[in-house]
Amino acid sequence: MLFDTHVHLNAEQFEEDLEEVIGRAKDAGVEKMVVVGFDRPTINKAMELVETYDFLYASVGWHPVDAIDMTEEDLKWIEELSAHPKVVALGEMGLDYHWDKSPKDIQKEVFRKQIRLAKKVKLPIVIHNREATQDIVDILKEENAGEVGGIMHCFSGSAETAKECIDMNFYISLGGPVTFKNAKKPKEVAVEVPMDRLLIETDCPYLAPHPNRGKRNEPAYVKLVAEQIAELKGMEFEEVAKKTTENAKKLFGIN
Ligand SMILES: [Zn+2]
Ligand SMILES: [Zn+2]
Repeated sequence: MLFDTHVHLNAEQFEEDLEEVIGRAKDAGVEKMVVVGFDRPTINKAMELVETYDFLYASVGWHPVDAIDMTEEDLKWIEELSAHPKVVALGEMGLDYHWDKSPKDIQKEVFRKQIRLAKKVKLPIVIHNREATQDIVDILKEENAGEVGGIMHCFSGSAETAKECIDMNFYISLGGPVTFKNAKKPKEVAVEVPMDRLLIETDCPYLAPHPNRGKRNEPAYVKLVAEQIAELKGMEFEEVAKKTTENAKKLFGIN
């Protein structure tokens, strides 16, 4: 049994063949998935999907790249959705300094607002970080985000930063990059992070693991991530699958 904690089955890349993609996920042993919405259309689609499929859950929030587009009404809407029984987290939220569509100060403001909302509605948060590790860690500390905790999604930082995040009540989620041959840091993180703090994800359709690198990613490939972690940790695959699934269920409050 596997739990893919971060999928974008709500992306247009899956419009044509969603049923087949879900079928392959089931065949690969993927028991549950969290569909992440990050703007108006993807949040709407995520909610539609979780109403349709019992094994799908939603995380709703506003992506830092598009922070400049988030209105007060959007934040209110996210708050309303947070009461839905299948909304298990808020996000993805965070900082992304790779793209400059939204200025840094606006990204930080929108990130802080969402952390405060998560604390108000008592849901864990899903953190997106690209080239902004120190600012993310600082804001999580300043906002006391450990009160709700959450996930450092597709974690790409160092083992030291991972430890700092774990100390703040966050889980470390590894995706496709841990399988890349030249990915030194994610492999070190996989070795160092204790099993009770580790999660797995695909972030599909992005970041497909080896040997599918560069192709469209899909939830079935989360198995490749778990296999790589098992190899790095010198554990059985089944053990990694079981423990990461338990961790995800505990964090999201799913039985
Ligand atoms: Zn992300
Ligand atoms: Zn994502």
